Amino acid sequence: MKTLIEQCRDGKIPRPVRQIAAGEGVAAAAIAAAVARGTIVVPANRKRTVARLCGIGAPLRVKINANLGTSPDCEDDAAELSKLKIAVACGADTIMDLSVGKDLARTRSAVLKHSPVPVGTVPIYEAFIRAEKKYGDSAGMTPPEVLAVLEEQAEAGVDFFTIHCGVTRKNTALLRRHPRFLGMVSRGGALLARWMQRTGQENPFFSRFDDILRIARRYDIVLSLGDGMRPGSVLDSTDRPQLAELKLLGKLAAQAVRAGVQVMIEGPGHIPLHHIRRNIALQKKYCRGAPFYVLGPLVTDIAAGYDHIAAAIGSCVAGMYGADFLCFVTPAEHIRLPDEEDIKLGVIASKIAAHGADLARRNERAWEQDRRMSAARKVRDWPAQAACALDPEKFAAMRRQSRPQLDDVCTMCGKYCSMKMQGEDSERA
Ligand code: SF4
Repeated sequence: MKTLIEQCRDGKIPRPVRQIAAGEGVAAAAIAAAVARGTIVVPANRKRTVARLCGIGAPLRVKINANLGTSPDCEDDAAELSKLKIAVACGADTIMDLSVGKDLARTRSAVLKHSPVPVGTVPIYEAFIRAEKKYGDSAGMTPPEVLAVLEEQAEAGVDFFTIHCGVTRKNTALLRRHPRFLGMVSRGGALLARWMQRTGQENPFFSRFDDILRIARRYDIVLSLGDGMRPGSVLDSTDRPQLAELKLLGKLAAQAVRAGVQVMIEGPGHIPLHHIRRNIALQKKYCRGAPFYVLGPLVTDIAAGYDHIAAAIGSCVAGMYGADFLCFVTPAEHIRLPDEEDIKLGVIASKIAAHGADLARRNERAWEQDRRMSAARKVRDWPAQAACALDPEKFAAMRRQSRPQLDDVCTMCGKYCSMKMQGEDSERA
């Protein structure tokens, strides 16, 4: 069976493309052409029906991802499903299950069952956890076992995989020659680097890339080429190991697209604001316009407790310059596993960033949303403003809490409400 890329190359307009075109107000033929080129991806495993499909890549709306998942110390599927519900209700376009609890397959199966949006995973986590159980040590993991995990997760319906194929022996040696403040902060990247050091073998996501492409083709899964070398401190931003990995990811992405496999590229974590434009430009150049999935980026390291804001600033600018997919960051980043409120704040912050980027990218539907809000503000139509807000519940609750309760103005300016005064003056004129 042909993959989405191959069908689009044959000049067809597959059903998912038509659905996305209708939802975005973009011509289906233009989306199909971009899928064929590899500049738009549609995460949708053949084995699963995704109720809320999304396309990622220009000229579509900037999309956002929310992460959830258990940890070895907090393993509560019900809590993760509750986070899933909140993230989707607040507008997450995709979910990544990053579980590393001991029964992560059970958690994933529950997430896949309940998620109306595409679901991504980082399969190396399961491969390592299985090896720990089987051999008592993750160093026992073998490349065929890694492929078996990919196959099983694909069969279960996962829509996109993060694979850290750029953490090669060559690139880890480069990192040793160019030490950083924080070294390798990617969890998957660090696990792989340790395995490579202890076994003397090459990263299986790199050495067995052809096998991985065969699996991805069979299920039409999107590969998200992970940035194991991403900087975890602004002090390490845009250094040689990061760029060497990005170049390699670009080559592997081209190989994937040639093989009919959809691919996107993951991007840097901690990047100061003035590096963002260059980072996007380099990714687009090295990776021939493949969709860019940015993790944040966080524009400072000192916002702990407010990292959703640091990331929203970075991701809005990244989106304006061409990033296509924003991974949310919660206030709990670097501190603890996020709770439900953290998830909500992270998704809303990321939605603001994505929408700000959409305005900058002149997305007509985004402009229409702002036009509706401004019109409702002008006439102080509070229910209409709540309906236009990214968080209608918060708007309504704040309005209810306001004292004194004023009908046609709010307590910010009271009788000096500029909107009201202008309305009265124009009526008189
Ligand atoms: S009172 Fe002030 S803040 Fe409130 S609606 Fe009027 S102009 Fe806006």
